[in-house]
Amino acid sequence: MNEVQLEVAKAYPNDSGRGIARLDPDTLLHLKLSPGDIIEIEGAETTAAKVWRADRQDWNTDTVRVDGFTRQNADVGIGERVTIRKAEAEKAEKLVLAPPEEASVQFGSDAAGMVKRQILKRPVVERDIVPVMSSTNHPFMRSPGQAIPLIAVETEPDGVCLITEDTEVELREEPISGFEKTGGGITYEDIGGLQSEIQRVREMVELPMKHPQIFSKLGIEPPQGVLLHGPPGTGKTLLAKAVANETSASFFSIAGPEIISKYYGESEQQLREIFEDAKEESPSIIFIDELDSIAPKREDVTGEVERRVVAQLLTMMDGLETRGQVIVIGATNRVDSVDPALRRPGRFDREIEIGVPDEVGRKEILQIHTRGMPLSDDVSLDHLADETHGFVGADIESLTKEAAMKALRRYLPEIDLDEEEVPPSLIDRMIVKRDDFSGALTE
Ligand code: ADP
Repeated sequence: MNEVQLEVAKAYPNDSGRGIARLDPDTLLHLKLSPGDIIEIEGAETTAAKVWRADRQDWNTDTVRVDGFTRQNADVGIGERVTIRKAEAEKAEKLVLAPPEEASVQFGSDAAGMVKRQILKRPVVERDIVPVMSSTNHPFMRSPGQAIPLIAVETEPDGVCLITEDTEVELREEPISGFEKTGGGITYEDIGGLQSEIQRVREMVELPMKHPQIFSKLGIEPPQGVLLHGPPGTGKTLLAKAVANETSASFFSIAGPEIISKYYGESEQQLREIFEDAKEESPSIIFIDELDSIAPKREDVTGEVERRVVAQLLTMMDGLETRGQVIVIGATNRVDSVDPALRRPGRFDREIEIGVPDEVGRKEILQIHTRGMPLSDDVSLDHLADETHGFVGADIESLTKEAAMKALRRYLPEIDLDEEEVPPSLIDRMIVKRDDFSGALTE
């Protein structure tokens, strides 16, 4: 059979949640594919996606770009190889979708219709995660820009199915249990800019977790602790979560100030327990936010608690024998305030600066946070990226939310709050305009 092996790369910012795979023209030709055709993607599992043409910079790189959902569906990570072939897709008679475990979703009465419109002409394989974009367009969903992962618990027929107008789509509110995939979590597509920073974190964290033998062969120790430093709201937490999610590592989070104050008298024990759990559930990532607060410089220390917590943290890190399988990522806005003892070799000995995004980064972040929004044609993200000099990711996120709220206020007079349903025709008309962004910017 005609098939190729390609390396998995992350999706373009705008592609996330759309079930798209990007291939270059050579590969398309080789597999006799046209844009819009359906392919099978075989990793540890097999899923399907719709083919689009890759941008020129990706030609002849032997890569396929797919988003985090498709990667989970194929059970592969970025940099791993998958087999691609043309799929024999059959029309889906029926598709049953349910939220994954622990997620609760409430669907409005027309939700099945809206979901179907979103996933029309897309391929689905049973057990796939099917991301459904939430947006101001979809009142049953939470916050805009976020894809809600649903699980295809049943398809008729089996195999690769294509959703058509005639497909009967059924939504269940009852979460499905026993599915390993959750579709949840942050993926690299959720991070704008920071390309080389992501690459460095991946080398330091993903590589030793996935291939510890590389390090032992070369006789070098994989890193134990990585310190991310930079201004607040630039994506340090986001990056740590993405790495954990993409490596399927367990994620443990410690808020620096909290461990000092909340567990008064039990801080050290708390820390010990977290490290023990992380070891048990390894590979794991322990994320310590505001590391400077847990470990102020020795000369600054007035409180006995901090001193003891620092000592405990050092003991735990020095005592980790499973090198590479438990990695501690610390974050701080004030790298100079971190206890120097923590920055010695074998501890937080790798540092990555996470800076304020440049214009290209800001555009990517804008794309990410407007993904699910119905934008009017007069909104130019290029223009907005140019106008938001100095904004960090968190600022851009607030800006897009504020713009959506402004749009909503425009439609409020038309909404009868006593009625149970908002008329679908109104919902279809709702858009976020350039003025909404300008208004949000001047506040
Ligand atoms: P930090 O840990 O650096 O203080 P966070 O990672 O907690 O910042 O960022 C807060 C929020 O801001 C994130 O949840 C995300 O919505 C947004 N954000 C920050 N940086 C980025 C980025 N580079 N790309 C996309 N969104 C971002």
